[in-house]
Amino acid sequence: LSPVPSDIEISRAQSPKAVDVLAKEIGLLTDEVEIYGQTKAKVRLSLLERLKDQPDGKYVLVAGITPTPLGEGKSTVTIGLVQALTAHLNINSFACLRQPSQGPTFGVKGGAAGGGYAQVIPMEEFNLHLTGDIHAITAANNLLAAAIDARILHENTQSDKALYNRLVPVVNGVRGFSAIQLARLRRLGISKTDPGTLTEEEINKFARLDIDPSTITWQRVVDTNDRFLRKITVGQANTEKGFVRQAQFDIAVASEIMAILALTTSLQDMKERLGKMVVANDKKGEPITAEDLGVTGALAVLMKDAIKPTLMQTLEGTPVFVHAGPFANIAHGNSSVLADKIALKLVGEKGFVVTEAGFGADIGMEKFFNIKCRASGLVPSVVVLVATVRALKMHGGGPNVTAGAPLKKEYTEENLQLVADGCCNLQKQIQITQLFGVPVVVALNVFKTDSPAEIDLVCKIAKQSGAFDAVPCNHWSAGGRGAVKLAQAVERAANQKNNFKYLYSLELPIVEKIRIIAQKVYGAQDIELSPTAQSQVDRYTRQGFGNLPICMAKTHLSLSHQPERKGVPTGFILPISDVRASIGAGFIYPLVGTMSTMPGLPTRPCFYDIDLDPITEQVKGLF
Ligand code: ADP
Repeated sequence: LSPVPSDIEISRAQSPKAVDVLAKEIGLLTDEVEIYGQTKAKVRLSLLERLKDQPDGKYVLVAGITPTPLGEGKSTVTIGLVQALTAHLNINSFACLRQPSQGPTFGVKGGAAGGGYAQVIPMEEFNLHLTGDIHAITAANNLLAAAIDARILHENTQSDKALYNRLVPVVNGVRGFSAIQLARLRRLGISKTDPGTLTEEEINKFARLDIDPSTITWQRVVDTNDRFLRKITVGQANTEKGFVRQAQFDIAVASEIMAILALTTSLQDMKERLGKMVVANDKKGEPITAEDLGVTGALAVLMKDAIKPTLMQTLEGTPVFVHAGPFANIAHGNSSVLADKIALKLVGEKGFVVTEAGFGADIGMEKFFNIKCRASGLVPSVVVLVATVRALKMHGGGPNVTAGAPLKKEYTEENLQLVADGCCNLQKQIQITQLFGVPVVVALNVFKTDSPAEIDLVCKIAKQSGAFDAVPCNHWSAGGRGAVKLAQAVERAANQKNNFKYLYSLELPIVEKIRIIAQKVYGAQDIELSPTAQSQVDRYTRQGFGNLPICMAKTHLSLSHQPERKGVPTGFILPISDVRASIGAGFIYPLVGTMSTMPGLPTRPCFYDIDLDPITEQVKGLF
């Protein structure tokens, strides 16, 4: 239709096929599918065992140029591309997407189901609770947070003996260690299994974690943009006996447990990763893990369903997996390895799996290659780099683009000079992609205000800058039909020689790996570590965590650390203010400048437009 109706109107106008029908179409067996209502199903991991001898399909990553705060259409391109491949070119394909966070859905950016005629449906299910994975992550994360503070309280208010007696209680007249406690004894080098035989010294060693509260890095989380939780004080009730400390909430999708969900390869692996999460140091400077707190099994129980990808469909009835979460700036922001692996088997050798990495190629794609591909061992065939004329004009010197405000005339009228000047960002993002040796196809996501001359100019510059091809796409207004040329270009690029390589060796020192990303990817002159960051690097290196990959927490609005610097900033020194470690997920996590891990609500958040019709039960105003 023209004009294109709202996302939710389009979503509602299409009746999705029953998810059991979809599951059958893509070759799933009845006992591999757990149905949630009529349009969503979880898929069991047993599928991977059944299909282990099936060759993988081609693996396509959708990344982007440095975006405006509005988003440039990566999700929309991902969905348009699979609609084109499957519904128009008759090639099996799967989209693997991230579950949106309710922070942006009710905050600034809106949902993430794609848009226009390239959407996952029903979009309200996709954008709201889905199958509860983020709630499970929140529950698991906060159980661990509660365990830390409670343990400090109990250890500091009880004698060794009293603490031990409570930790190892008498049940039916017998005192016995749990399996988790026996494992802890083994880690401590105590070979006894009878609780009555431990010496006083061993009892002290076993019962006291001696957590140093000033070193706690584990935070509570909630999936809401709640800025007032950025700094809080916990333990103020009298019952907590003065164990008051400053803490914070992060947005749930930034939890290490979300990162684990995205990177894990099996239930066993997830359990091990959950146990390895480091939450603090003890008073001697040794790491304290979730396993030390005895909570690993409970976390795995809370996460047992979340580990299964959720099956949904596009507007054109093609299959989609939704799994793991967004926020590539403060997390790694990629969908799950498991969803990709299952989808690669399901599409077969000639099929395509299209997944998306958050924000610009410098952010989500760098992490996709260096962290996610390392975890999965998968090799991508093609990168699709999404660009828009509006973002290029912003990089060429156009006025600020602000969410919620109307676009200025520079963005609605032809301006070839701004486009040409802004293509430096596209060129740089192409070069970044080439560092990894994978062919790149530029997808120009066409808006109705783009002129033919502007579109031609972008495609010409993209090809001159080394892109395998550059194609205008109209999937937003025309569905899969509008992305057929893109699909054909991707198919051709997937047959190109692939020289995939990581950007750095894990054996390099932490600081050296950070420097390589800063210089080669962001274009920084050098990096500068604060004293806190340096001492954290020293600590993690001493603790034996030096050879993990790096997950930078940096603004997505510029290649540099300063969001207002557009185009291709040069000559800057990248400030590393702090360095944290996600040992379970398996990365070191440097914070660049002032990065908040909890977004805030603006004056007029999206929720003003969201409503429910109590008669029809229809949701309105989501986009
Ligand atoms: P990203 O994944 O890059 O953040 P999205 O695909 O979520 O971006 O798109 C951001 C917003 O822009 C969505 O609301 C989407 O509907 C809208 N959008 C995307 N492409 C177009 C287009 N070609 N024309 C108009 N609106 C678009």
